Amino acid sequence: MASNRRAFLTATAVGALATAPTTATAVGTHPHPTTAPAALAELLDGNRRYASGHSRHPDESRPLRHQLATAQHPFAVIVGCVDSRVPPELVFDQGLGDLLCIRTAGEVLDEAVLASIQYGVEELRIPLVLVLGHERCGAVAATLAHLETGAPVPGHLALLVDEIAPAARRTRALPGDWAEHTMTAHTAWVRDAIRADPAFTSAQVVAARFDLDTGLVSLLP
Ligand SMILES: [Zn+2]
Repeated sequence: MASNRRAFLTATAVGALATAPTTATAVGTHPHPTTAPAALAELLDGNRRYASGHSRHPDESRPLRHQLATAQHPFAVIVGCVDSRVPPELVFDQGLGDLLCIRTAGEVLDEAVLASIQYGVEELRIPLVLVLGHERCGAVAATLAHLETGAPVPGHLALLVDEIAPAARRTRALPGDWAEHTMTAHTAWVRDAIRADPAFTSAQVVAARFDLDTGLVSLLP
């Protein structure tokens, strides 16, 4: 992480972003939470609907689309994986204007991700950041394969391996599923890195795991 770029971003870039509304209001089919605990409860409620096959698919109407054309008040930042099986709006049964989603393979951080989180937390005043890892993550599998075989990592994929490898090394000796241990350790590390960043002190930051089999999201300790 280039600290000089971080400092530059913190000092200058956010002030130049588009001005956001300063109050959270009821938008769409349900009122948006304005606190982190309420935002988390809404996400977990929506996930239970999704996992049980009772999704409501809220906030997709044409009138809402028009309403949102001039302002947005998302209530949670989701930092998740690009995996096609883990789309946050579906997993949490939310809709337009509800979530600010940032997705990279293996939910790895870089300056663009951090700047996007900062936009949500500072400019849109979002109270909650949720880092979402998931089982059988391809970025984790690629990292473990590299560590096991020593094979070179092609092109841009090296960034993913560099970011995930520390969690893989820390958990290699543990009994059980190395990929699962790596995913949870890496997801918790991403959470802790966001928590430790002074740019995000106004938000609560949590980490969670998505289960591909059950569809359920569970918070990491
Ligand atoms: Zn993944």
